[in-house]
Amino acid sequence: MAVVHSPSSTAQSVGAALAALGIVLFALLALYLVGFDQGALSRTGMYMHELMHDGRHLLGLPCH
Ligand SMILES: [Zn+2]
Repeated sequence: MAVVHSPSSTAQSVGAALAALGIVLFALLALYLVGFDQGALSRTGMYMHELMHDGRHLLGLPCH
């Protein structure tokens, strides 16, 4: 079964593309904060690292 989307206007296509881009950027930011941040971007010291510690281990990301 194929799902085909045929937008009725260019504005809908641009809107969908921008929404998809926003979702991807948000997902990458969340992945960074959960998996790799150690205070460099969040400026929270090790707070974000400790807050996301269990999630980091659950995802199998390098930690300690
Ligand atoms: Zn750890």
